[in-house]
Amino acid sequence: MGPEEMCRTLAGATDVDYDCQRCGACCLSITPSAGYVVLERDEATQLRRLSLPIVIGTDGQSFLATEPYDGPGGAAACIAFEGAPGFPSRCLIYAARPTKCREFEAGSIACRTARLRAGLPIG
Ligand code: SF4
Ligand code: SF4
Repeated sequence: MGPEEMCRTLAGATDVDYDCQRCGACCLSITPSAGYVVLERDEATQLRRLSLPIVIGTDGQSFLATEPYDGPGGAAACIAFEGAPGFPSRCLIYAARPTKCREFEAGSIACRTARLRAGLPIG
C-alpha cells in the first residue's frame, strides 16, 4: 500500500476495538535496526536484570534490542515479542513493559498505521 492509499484508508477508518492479542504490529520495527523501544534509564537497568539485551545508541540513548523478523509489518521485532500479526501474539514482559509501550494507544493513528503495514484491517 502506497502512502496516498494509506492516508485515505486511515482517514476512512471507523472506531473499532482491536484485538492486540492477535496483532502486535506495534512491536515490529520498520527498519532492521538493532534497537527498537526507547528506554528510560531505570527501565534499561530493570530489563537488564531480566536478562534482556539492551542497545546503546551513539547519543547514549538505550533501546530494547530486536531480533530478525521475516513477515509483513516490519523488518525486525522487539526481542520481547512472540507471535505474528493476525496470529496469537504477546509481550513476554507485559507486566514490566517500558513506558513507551504503556503509553501506546490501541486505535491511535500510529496503531492503525502499524496494522495497515502488517496487512491487518483497521475497520
Ligand atoms: S498495533 Fe494497535 S492493535 Fe496492534 S497490538 Fe499494537 S496497539 Fe494493539
Ligand atoms: S516490550 Fe512488549 S509491548 Fe513493547 S514493543 Fe516489546 S513486545 Fe511490544
